[in-house]
Amino acid sequence: MKITGVAVNVLRVPVDKPYSAGGRTVDANWHVLARVTTSDGVEGIGYVVYPRPDLMTAIGQASRELGEHLVGMSVLEPEAAWERLARIGDWVGPGGLLHVALAPLDIAVWDAHGKTLGQPLYRLLGGYRDRVPAYGSDGLWVSLSPTELAANAKQHVADGFTAVKLRIGKESTAEAEARRVLAVREAVGPQVKIMVDAVESWSLAYARRAGRVLQDAGIAWLEDPVHHHDVAGLASLRRRLDVPIAAGEHLYHLDGFRTLLEARAVDVVILDLARVGGVTPWRRIAGLAHAHGIPVCGHVVPEVQVHLLAAVASGYMVEYVPRSAGILTSMPRCERGELVAPSSPGLGLELDADAVRRHQVA
Ligand SMILES: [Mg+2]
Repeated sequence: MKITGVAVNVLRVPVDKPYSAGGRTVDANWHVLARVTTSDGVEGIGYVVYPRPDLMTAIGQASRELGEHLVGMSVLEPEAAWERLARIGDWVGPGGLLHVALAPLDIAVWDAHGKTLGQPLYRLLGGYRDRVPAYGSDGLWVSLSPTELAANAKQHVADGFTAVKLRIGKESTAEAEARRVLAVREAVGPQVKIMVDAVESWSLAYARRAGRVLQDAGIAWLEDPVHHHDVAGLASLRRRLDVPIAAGEHLYHLDGFRTLLEARAVDVVILDLARVGGVTPWRRIAGLAHAHGIPVCGHVVPEVQVHLLAAVASGYMVEYVPRSAGILTSMPRCERGELVAPSSPGLGLELDADAVRRHQVA
């Protein structure tokens, strides 16, 4: 179970249909993929994925350099491994690029840990259940017309999802945003949950007004209405609105989550596995949220997040965006609105070796 080798590669995986998000055209999902091999011949995999190229080769290089320090450590000691790497990079951390570079390594160590012990990750991490309610959010972009949005949401429901999430924030009035929600409602029927993500695009004053209009339109949560630094603003929205407030995917460190939770600023905490630095810190943050009585959700990478969210009692919903389907032989399946955690050891995921080779750029 000793780590004998660590390989890190950067992959550019083209998307089927380019789309616009955050003012950019997304034509590929960029991965930093880490592969950890052990003295028993086990290989653990881990990756981060972002729909943009910026700094990806730098993150890959940082991850490669940090990965060298894993050699000789045991995959049964992921906490020790994470702390060791975090200490090496502490002068440029915590958070930021350091955490994103740590994440693929930490995930790969946990995958190898599960494979070594012959257990799926969700069971090793707590085993609360083996599936998690899921929502479809792929293809529900801010750049689409209400008609296109409604058609894509309807497809998610046909695929078995009972909840969907729309990106909003581009319309000039709150009423126009609500019309997008109502177009989707018309298409998916009364039973499907509709969440919205404003992607930090609003001022606090606008968020107060838009939040009221959207809650009347029947949304299930309002995500990232204002910038994540405005914790007091989030807390005031939570007090004034009836609709649950969701935030957290832009935070990197336990301290940031503590500030958010102590301010009673959110009803739902969302964790980005790359920004928090992998599975090891994810567990600490989920435990902190649990202590505050707040459920946790995952940001993207559903095939990994499903294990983490299934493991703990406070796991709430998994966001289904299959950005890495192009490098995997299969994705976890959705059954009656829930994503089922793979039952084979570790993450239970298998790389498509040809695809990895084809998409490798560094
Ligand atoms: Mg979001």
